[in-house]
Amino acid sequence: MKTDIIKININNPEPDKLQHAAEVLRNGGLVAFPTETVYGLGADATNGSAVSGIFKAKGRPSDNPLIVHIADSRDLDRLTALKPEVSEHLIKVFWPGPLTLVMPRSSAIPDIVTASLDSVAIRMPSHPVALALIQKAGVPVAAPSANSSGKPSPTCARHVIDDLDGKVDIIIDGGSVEVGLESTVLDITSPIPVILRPGGITREQLESVIGRVDICPSLMDSEAGLHVPKSPGMKYRHYAPEARIVLFEGKPEKVCKEISRIYRQNTGNGIKSIVLATDETVDCYKGIDVITMGSRKNPDTIASRLFHILREFNDQNVQVILAESIEDRGIGFAVMNRLIKASGYNVVKV
Ligand code: AMP
Ligand code: MG
Repeated sequence: MKTDIIKININNPEPDKLQHAAEVLRNGGLVAFPTETVYGLGADATNGSAVSGIFKAKGRPSDNPLIVHIADSRDLDRLTALKPEVSEHLIKVFWPGPLTLVMPRSSAIPDIVTASLDSVAIRMPSHPVALALIQKAGVPVAAPSANSSGKPSPTCARHVIDDLDGKVDIIIDGGSVEVGLESTVLDITSPIPVILRPGGITREQLESVIGRVDICPSLMDSEAGLHVPKSPGMKYRHYAPEARIVLFEGKPEKVCKEISRIYRQNTGNGIKSIVLATDETVDCYKGIDVITMGSRKNPDTIASRLFHILREFNDQNVQVILAESIEDRGIGFAVMNRLIKASGYNVVKV
Protein backbone atom coordinates (compact mmCIF):
# COMPACT_ATOMS: atom_id res chain seq x y z
CA MET A 1 0.00 0.00 0.00
CA LYS A 2 1.22 3.50 -0.76
CA THR A 3 1.08 5.75 2.30
CA ASP A 4 0.22 9.41 1.74
CA ILE A 5 2.24 11.67 4.04
CA ILE A 6 0.40 14.95 4.53
CA LYS A 7 2.03 17.91 6.27
CA ILE A 8 -0.51 20.01 8.11
CA ASN A 9 -0.50 23.39 9.82
CA ILE A 10 -1.52 22.55 13.39
CA ASN A 11 -2.55 26.10 14.28
CA ASN A 12 -4.77 26.42 11.25
CA PRO A 13 -5.33 22.96 9.73
CA GLU A 14 -6.04 23.16 5.99
CA PRO A 15 -9.72 22.13 5.50
CA ASP A 16 -9.09 20.24 2.23
CA LYS A 17 -6.40 18.06 3.85
CA LEU A 18 -8.66 17.29 6.81
CA GLN A 19 -11.59 16.59 4.51
CA HIS A 20 -9.55 14.09 2.51
CA ALA A 21 -8.30 12.26 5.62
CA ALA A 22 -11.84 12.26 7.11
CA GLU A 23 -13.22 10.65 3.95
CA VAL A 24 -10.56 7.94 4.09
CA LEU A 25 -11.58 7.22 7.71
CA ARG A 26 -15.28 7.14 6.81
CA ASN A 27 -14.52 4.70 3.98
CA GLY A 28 -12.81 2.24 6.31
CA GLY A 29 -9.19 3.40 5.82
CA LEU A 30 -6.37 3.92 8.34
CA VAL A 31 -5.12 7.42 9.20
CA ALA A 32 -2.27 8.22 11.61
CA PHE A 33 -2.64 11.66 13.20
CA PRO A 34 -1.07 13.79 15.91
CA THR A 35 -2.72 14.09 19.32
CA GLU A 36 -1.42 16.03 22.32
CA THR A 37 -0.18 12.78 23.93
CA VAL A 38 1.41 10.71 21.13
CA TYR A 39 0.51 10.01 17.48
CA GLY A 40 -2.54 7.77 17.07
CA LEU A 41 -3.48 5.28 14.34
CA GLY A 42 -7.18 5.79 13.66
CA ALA A 43 -10.03 3.85 12.08
CA ASP A 44 -13.83 4.18 12.23
CA ALA A 45 -14.63 2.61 15.62
CA THR A 46 -18.04 1.43 14.42
CA ASN A 47 -16.53 -0.50 11.48
CA GLY A 48 -15.11 -3.85 12.65
CA SER A 49 -13.18 -4.59 9.49
CA ALA A 50 -11.56 -1.12 9.48
CA VAL A 51 -10.54 -1.66 13.11
CA SER A 52 -9.05 -5.07 12.31
CA GLY A 53 -6.68 -3.17 9.96
CA ILE A 54 -5.23 -1.34 12.99
CA PHE A 55 -4.32 -4.63 14.70
CA LYS A 56 -2.74 -5.89 11.47
CA ALA A 57 -0.71 -2.73 10.74
CA LYS A 58 0.64 -2.53 14.30
CA GLY A 59 1.05 -6.29 14.86
CA ARG A 60 -1.06 -5.72 17.98
CA PRO A 61 -2.38 -8.73 19.95
CA SER A 62 -6.16 -8.95 19.51
CA ASP A 63 -6.80 -9.14 23.27
CA ASN A 64 -5.50 -5.59 23.78
CA PRO A 65 -8.48 -3.21 23.43
CA LEU A 66 -8.40 0.20 21.77
CA ILE A 67 -9.30 3.68 22.97
CA VAL A 68 -12.21 5.33 21.15
CA HIS A 69 -11.65 9.03 20.40
CA ILE A 70 -14.54 11.48 20.18
CA ALA A 71 -14.86 15.21 19.52
CA ASP A 72 -18.15 15.83 21.33
CA SER A 73 -18.95 14.50 24.81
CA ARG A 74 -22.61 14.02 23.75
CA ASP A 75 -21.37 10.98 21.77
CA LEU A 76 -20.97 9.20 25.11
CA ASP A 77 -24.72 8.57 25.24
CA ARG A 78 -24.46 6.41 22.13
CA LEU A 79 -21.23 4.63 23.01
CA THR A 80 -21.81 3.78 26.68
CA ALA A 81 -24.51 1.74 28.41
CA LEU A 82 -24.33 3.95 31.48
CA LYS A 83 -22.49 7.13 32.41
CA PRO A 84 -21.17 6.87 35.99
CA GLU A 85 -21.89 10.11 37.84
CA VAL A 86 -18.23 10.82 38.41
CA SER A 87 -17.73 11.10 34.64
CA GLU A 88 -19.50 14.49 34.59
CA HIS A 89 -16.92 16.13 36.87
CA LEU A 90 -13.97 14.51 35.15
CA ILE A 91 -15.15 15.52 31.70
CA LYS A 92 -15.79 19.09 32.78
CA VAL A 93 -12.27 19.48 34.14
CA PHE A 94 -10.08 17.24 31.98
CA TRP A 95 -11.69 17.00 28.53
CA PRO A 96 -10.52 17.65 25.95
CA GLY A 97 -7.21 16.27 27.24
CA PRO A 98 -5.06 13.25 28.14
CA LEU A 99 -7.62 11.37 30.25
CA THR A 100 -9.26 8.14 29.02
CA LEU A 101 -12.36 6.91 30.84
CA VAL A 102 -13.31 3.22 30.97
CA MET A 103 -17.11 2.90 31.15
CA PRO A 104 -19.76 0.23 30.52
CA ARG A 105 -20.12 -0.11 26.75
CA SER A 106 -23.11 0.00 24.44
CA SER A 107 -23.68 -2.22 21.42
CA ALA A 108 -22.61 0.58 19.03
CA ILE A 109 -19.01 -0.54 19.56
CA PRO A 110 -18.00 -3.82 17.90
CA ASP A 111 -16.29 -6.52 19.99
CA ILE A 112 -12.98 -6.14 18.19
CA VAL A 113 -12.53 -2.62 19.64
CA THR A 114 -12.94 -3.70 23.26
CA ALA A 115 -11.43 -7.19 22.93
CA SER A 116 -14.91 -8.39 23.93
CA LEU A 117 -14.76 -6.69 27.36
CA ASP A 118 -18.05 -5.26 28.59
CA SER A 119 -16.43 -1.83 28.99
CA VAL A 120 -15.12 0.71 26.50
CA ALA A 121 -12.26 3.23 26.88
CA ILE A 122 -13.11 6.72 25.59
CA ARG A 123 -11.18 9.97 25.32
CA MET A 124 -11.56 13.43 23.80
CA PRO A 125 -8.15 14.66 22.62
CA SER A 126 -7.30 18.37 22.78
CA HIS A 127 -5.01 18.52 19.73
CA PRO A 128 -6.63 20.80 17.12
CA VAL A 129 -5.86 18.38 14.26
CA ALA A 130 -7.22 15.35 16.11
CA LEU A 131 -10.39 17.18 17.13
CA ALA A 132 -11.05 18.61 13.66
CA LEU A 133 -10.38 15.26 11.98
CA ILE A 134 -12.80 13.35 14.25
CA GLN A 135 -15.41 16.08 13.83
CA LYS A 136 -15.15 15.99 10.04
CA ALA A 137 -15.15 12.18 9.93
CA GLY A 138 -18.43 12.22 11.85
CA VAL A 139 -17.66 8.83 13.44
CA PRO A 140 -15.94 7.83 16.69
CA VAL A 141 -12.31 6.98 15.93
CA ALA A 142 -10.59 3.96 17.50
CA ALA A 143 -6.92 4.90 17.82
CA PRO A 144 -4.07 3.23 19.67
CA SER A 145 -0.60 4.73 19.51
CA ALA A 146 0.73 4.74 15.93
CA ASN A 147 3.78 2.53 16.50
CA SER A 148 4.56 -1.12 15.79
CA SER A 149 3.43 -3.09 18.82
CA GLY A 150 6.12 -3.22 21.51
CA LYS A 151 8.06 -0.15 20.30
CA PRO A 152 8.12 3.24 22.04
CA SER A 153 5.09 5.34 21.13
CA PRO A 154 5.63 7.91 18.36
CA THR A 155 6.06 11.55 19.38
CA CYS A 156 6.66 12.90 15.86
CA ALA A 157 5.68 11.89 12.31
CA ARG A 158 9.17 10.48 11.61
CA HIS A 159 8.59 7.76 14.24
CA VAL A 160 5.26 6.84 12.62
CA ILE A 161 6.84 6.70 9.17
CA ASP A 162 9.62 4.43 10.51
CA ASP A 163 7.05 1.95 11.84
CA LEU A 164 4.02 2.19 9.54
CA ASP A 165 5.02 3.49 6.08
CA GLY A 166 3.38 1.22 3.49
CA LYS A 167 0.93 -0.22 6.05
CA VAL A 168 -1.58 2.64 6.43
CA ASP A 169 -3.39 5.00 4.04
CA ILE A 170 -2.36 8.37 5.45
CA ILE A 171 0.14 9.76 7.96
CA ILE A 172 -0.68 13.34 8.95
CA ASP A 173 2.51 15.15 9.92
CA GLY A 174 1.75 17.75 12.58
CA GLY A 175 5.25 18.06 14.05
CA SER A 176 6.20 17.04 17.59
CA VAL A 177 3.55 16.33 20.22
CA GLU A 178 3.24 18.16 23.51
CA VAL A 179 2.80 15.63 26.34
CA GLY A 180 4.92 12.81 24.90
CA LEU A 181 3.36 10.05 27.06
CA GLU A 182 -0.01 8.39 26.51
CA SER A 183 -3.24 9.34 28.27
CA THR A 184 -4.08 8.27 31.80
CA VAL A 185 -6.53 5.35 31.65
CA LEU A 186 -9.06 5.60 34.51
CA ASP A 187 -11.59 2.84 35.18
CA ILE A 188 -14.78 4.39 36.52
CA THR A 189 -16.89 1.24 36.43
CA SER A 190 -16.22 0.59 40.13
CA PRO A 191 -17.24 2.84 43.08
CA ILE A 192 -13.65 3.95 43.61
CA PRO A 193 -12.02 4.90 40.31
CA VAL A 194 -8.82 3.02 39.47
CA ILE A 195 -5.87 4.19 37.36
CA LEU A 196 -5.12 1.35 34.94
CA ARG A 197 -2.37 3.26 33.15
CA PRO A 198 -0.67 6.41 34.51
CA GLY A 199 -0.27 9.18 31.93
CA GLY A 200 -0.74 12.82 31.06
CA ILE A 201 -3.17 13.55 33.93
CA THR A 202 -1.71 12.73 37.33
CA ARG A 203 -3.33 10.93 40.26
CA GLU A 204 -2.98 14.14 42.28
CA GLN A 205 -4.92 16.11 39.65
CA LEU A 206 -7.69 13.50 39.57
CA GLU A 207 -7.96 13.33 43.36
CA SER A 208 -8.28 17.09 43.61
CA VAL A 209 -11.50 16.81 41.59
CA ILE A 210 -13.13 13.51 42.61
CA GLY A 211 -11.44 12.46 45.86
CA ARG A 212 -9.94 9.01 46.32
CA VAL A 213 -8.45 7.34 43.26
CA ASP A 214 -6.76 3.94 43.50
CA ILE A 215 -3.89 2.63 41.45
CA CYS A 216 -4.06 -0.78 39.84
CA PRO A 217 -1.72 -2.83 42.09
CA SER A 218 0.15 -4.45 39.23
CA LEU A 219 1.28 -1.12 37.80
CA MET A 220 4.60 -0.34 39.43
CA ASP A 221 5.32 -3.80 40.66
CA SER A 222 8.45 -5.42 39.31
CA GLU A 223 6.66 -8.76 39.73
CA ALA A 224 3.69 -7.49 37.73
CA GLY A 225 3.81 -10.61 35.59
CA LEU A 226 2.45 -12.50 38.60
CA HIS A 227 -0.78 -10.46 38.71
CA VAL A 228 -3.63 -10.58 36.27
CA PRO A 229 -3.68 -7.05 34.81
CA LYS A 230 -7.06 -5.28 34.67
CA SER A 231 -6.03 -3.35 31.60
CA PRO A 232 -5.08 -6.05 29.11
CA GLY A 233 -2.52 -3.86 27.35
CA MET A 234 -0.40 -3.58 30.46
CA LYS A 235 0.79 -7.18 30.29
CA TYR A 236 2.79 -6.87 27.09
CA ARG A 237 6.38 -5.72 26.71
CA HIS A 238 6.09 -2.11 25.71
CA TYR A 239 7.97 1.02 24.84
CA ALA A 240 11.10 -1.03 24.24
CA PRO A 241 14.04 0.18 22.21
CA GLU A 242 16.25 -2.45 20.57
CA ALA A 243 18.83 -2.18 23.37
CA ARG A 244 18.27 -3.84 26.73
CA ILE A 245 17.39 -1.37 29.50
CA VAL A 246 18.48 -1.81 33.10
CA LEU A 247 16.82 0.60 35.51
CA PHE A 248 18.50 1.61 38.79
CA GLU A 249 16.53 2.75 41.83
CA GLY A 250 17.98 4.37 44.96
CA LYS A 251 19.71 7.55 46.13
CA PRO A 252 21.14 9.40 43.09
CA GLU A 253 24.77 9.30 44.41
CA LYS A 254 24.62 5.54 44.99
CA VAL A 255 22.90 4.95 41.66
CA CYS A 256 25.58 6.96 39.86
CA LYS A 257 28.37 4.90 41.45
CA GLU A 258 26.74 1.58 40.61
CA ILE A 259 25.87 2.58 37.06
CA SER A 260 29.48 3.77 36.50
CA ARG A 261 30.79 0.44 37.78
CA ILE A 262 28.50 -1.60 35.52
CA TYR A 263 29.26 0.68 32.56
CA ARG A 264 33.01 0.05 32.94
CA GLN A 265 32.44 -3.67 33.40
CA ASN A 266 30.36 -3.74 30.20
CA THR A 267 32.96 -1.73 28.27
CA GLY A 268 35.64 -4.21 29.42
CA ASN A 269 33.49 -7.01 28.01
CA GLY A 270 33.00 -5.22 24.68
CA ILE A 271 29.34 -4.36 25.38
CA LYS A 272 28.37 -0.90 24.08
CA SER A 273 26.45 0.86 26.85
CA ILE A 274 25.04 4.32 27.42
CA VAL A 275 23.79 6.02 30.56
CA LEU A 276 20.40 7.73 30.76
CA ALA A 277 20.88 10.36 33.46
CA THR A 278 19.36 13.70 34.53
CA ASP A 279 20.65 17.29 34.44
CA GLU A 280 21.40 17.04 38.16
CA THR A 281 23.52 13.87 37.90
CA VAL A 282 25.06 14.03 34.42
CA ASP A 283 28.36 15.51 35.65
CA CYS A 284 29.12 12.58 37.94
CA TYR A 285 29.69 10.30 34.94
CA LYS A 286 33.30 11.04 33.97
CA GLY A 287 34.56 9.55 30.71
CA ILE A 288 31.26 7.73 30.27
CA ASP A 289 28.83 7.90 27.33
CA VAL A 290 25.87 9.65 28.92
CA ILE A 291 22.73 11.48 27.83
CA THR A 292 20.33 13.47 30.01
CA MET A 293 16.55 13.04 30.02
CA GLY A 294 16.15 16.56 31.47
CA SER A 295 15.90 18.08 34.92
CA ARG A 296 14.41 16.24 37.90
CA LYS A 297 12.75 19.56 38.76
CA ASN A 298 10.85 19.47 35.50
CA PRO A 299 9.49 15.93 34.99
CA ASP A 300 7.10 17.22 32.28
CA THR A 301 10.10 17.79 30.02
CA ILE A 302 11.44 14.32 30.82
CA ALA A 303 8.02 12.87 29.91
CA SER A 304 7.92 14.72 26.61
CA ARG A 305 11.41 13.57 25.59
CA LEU A 306 11.52 9.99 26.87
CA PHE A 307 10.16 8.08 23.86
CA HIS A 308 12.16 10.21 21.44
CA ILE A 309 15.36 9.44 23.36
CA LEU A 310 14.58 5.71 23.53
CA ARG A 311 14.07 5.61 19.76
CA GLU A 312 17.30 7.51 19.10
CA PHE A 313 19.33 4.78 20.78
CA ASN A 314 18.27 2.42 17.99
CA ASP A 315 20.33 4.47 15.54
CA GLN A 316 23.43 4.33 17.72
CA ASN A 317 23.79 0.54 17.99
CA VAL A 318 23.70 0.75 21.76
CA GLN A 319 23.39 -2.70 23.39
CA VAL A 320 22.62 -1.73 26.99
CA ILE A 321 20.98 1.39 28.40
CA LEU A 322 21.74 2.01 32.08
CA ALA A 323 18.92 4.27 33.26
CA GLU A 324 18.47 6.33 36.41
CA SER A 325 15.08 6.52 38.12
CA ILE A 326 13.26 9.73 38.92
CA GLU A 327 10.85 10.45 41.74
CA ASP A 328 7.56 8.67 40.99
CA ARG A 329 5.27 11.56 41.89
CA GLY A 330 3.05 13.58 39.54
CA ILE A 331 3.92 12.90 35.92
CA GLY A 332 7.09 11.20 37.25
CA PHE A 333 4.85 8.24 38.12
CA ALA A 334 3.96 7.77 34.45
CA VAL A 335 7.60 8.24 33.39
CA MET A 336 8.71 5.54 35.83
CA ASN A 337 5.92 3.21 34.69
CA ARG A 338 7.13 3.51 31.07
CA LEU A 339 10.78 3.04 32.06
CA ILE A 340 9.99 -0.03 34.16
CA LYS A 341 8.00 -1.55 31.30
CA ALA A 342 10.63 -0.61 28.73
CA SER A 343 13.19 -2.44 30.89
CA GLY A 344 11.00 -5.55 30.95
CA TYR A 345 10.94 -5.16 34.79
CA ASN A 346 14.73 -5.30 34.90
CA VAL A 347 15.09 -3.08 37.97
CA VAL A 348 18.18 -2.99 40.23
CA LYS A 349 17.72 -1.52 43.71
CA VAL A 350 20.95 -0.01 45.08
P1 AMP B 1 -2.77 2.38 23.41
O1 AMP B 1 -3.90 3.21 22.92
O2 AMP B 1 -2.27 1.37 22.47
O3 AMP B 1 -1.65 3.21 23.90
O4 AMP B 1 -3.34 1.57 24.63
C1 AMP B 1 -4.64 1.67 25.13
C2 AMP B 1 -4.64 1.22 26.56
O5 AMP B 1 -5.99 1.28 27.07
C3 AMP B 1 -4.19 -0.21 26.73
O6 AMP B 1 -3.38 -0.31 27.89
C4 AMP B 1 -5.50 -0.96 26.88
O7 AMP B 1 -5.36 -2.18 27.55
C5 AMP B 1 -6.34 0.04 27.63
N1 AMP B 1 -7.77 -0.20 27.43
C6 AMP B 1 -8.50 0.02 26.32
N2 AMP B 1 -9.78 -0.35 26.49
C7 AMP B 1 -9.90 -0.80 27.76
C8 AMP B 1 -10.97 -1.32 28.54
N3 AMP B 1 -12.21 -1.45 28.04
N4 AMP B 1 -10.69 -1.70 29.81
C9 AMP B 1 -9.46 -1.57 30.32
N5 AMP B 1 -8.40 -1.08 29.62
C10 AMP B 1 -8.61 -0.70 28.36
MG1 MG C 1 0.36 1.93 22.63
